Amino acid sequence: MHYYIQADRFFFPEGSKTNGYLEVQNGKIVQYLTEKPDGEILDYRGKWIAPGLVDTHIHGFANHDVMDCDFDGIKEISKALLSCGVTSFLPTTLTASVDKLNQVAEMIGEHFQEVEGAKIQGIFFEGPFFTEQYKGAQNPIYFLDPDLTVFEQWQKRAHGLIRKIAIAPERSGAVEFIQEVTKQGVTVALAHSAATYQQAKEAVEAGALVFVHAYNGMSGLNHREPGMVGCAMNTEHTIAEMICDGHHVHPAAAEIFLKVKTPEHIALITDCMRAGGMPDGEYSLGEFPVTVKEGTARLSSGNLAGSILQLFQGVKNVVDWNIATIEEAIHMASFVPAKSVHIEKQCGSILPGLSADFLVLSPEMTLLETYLDGVSSYHLK
Ligand SMILES: [Zn+2]
Repeated sequence: MHYYIQADRFFFPEGSKTNGYLEVQNGKIVQYLTEKPDGEILDYRGKWIAPGLVDTHIHGFANHDVMDCDFDGIKEISKALLSCGVTSFLPTTLTASVDKLNQVAEMIGEHFQEVEGAKIQGIFFEGPFFTEQYKGAQNPIYFLDPDLTVFEQWQKRAHGLIRKIAIAPERSGAVEFIQEVTKQGVTVALAHSAATYQQAKEAVEAGALVFVHAYNGMSGLNHREPGMVGCAMNTEHTIAEMICDGHHVHPAAAEIFLKVKTPEHIALITDCMRAGGMPDGEYSLGEFPVTVKEGTARLSSGNLAGSILQLFQGVKNVVDWNIATIEEAIHMASFVPAKSVHIEKQCGSILPGLSADFLVLSPEMTLLETYLDGVSSYHLK
């Protein structure tokens, strides 16, 4: 397999380039050329080429959930995600018993290479080291203090695939846990926490890098106690996840975050649950029943329980809200999330040497095609 993609615009981490050619050989990106090369040319004139998106926080899709502990379901999620522009993802767990998480870690660790759609680039453990006050849809009966022995057991079962773990930094032992886990190359994220500004700051100083679904599930910004949100805003190098579905974060609040942190430090994620890509109705998240209607998934209490957002829609939303350029929006859903879990050498851009996982877009921002390893694997009907 050897060809050149000709298109009007190509999105790179440093910005976009126009009217060029992207060389693809044996499923990998070779180089970007400005002059017409000799060889087979796939003609996408009038269209744009963007990197495949990377969702680093996603619980489910297409009526399947990671916590179902059924790898056939994860294979369905992987295939269906191509229609959302996602070519790499981190299957995300929920708070559950240590044993249940053992099973999930083992299942993904043993089978992750069997998916045929979006690639599994790691696992995100969302919990169980959280705080009740900001539990969201996490089940507090399983909350624990951070425990390295337990983590190492999960990581072993997952064949080292856990790339990110979220904790509440005010729990006992958090700083030591963050230091050790970070040393192992795993990203520590902060979430579902009532931490003070000071506690969050100490966690960042210990190595925590990511704030999970910013504004949601964390102590807010108050002028006398800036909380987790204040810490996310005031630690320049950290990366904040944002769910830009229009329900989790008001567009103006998203804009404020973007202005403070810059697009280089915002990762668009979905936090999607099993009802993503499905009709409205009754579903579940973990052990809780969830009602899906009007674009939201809610517990009976009214609390949001994950989202039904598709990542490409999140990209379009921030452009439609006029808070980011198209370049920035794509960057925040590809390169930045990849970098946040140290997989930017595997995915998240169309730089030379990476797998040829890319999207064909119309200039009206319609997703037309998704390429995986240089092969067109999804086509808009
Ligand atoms: Zn959460």
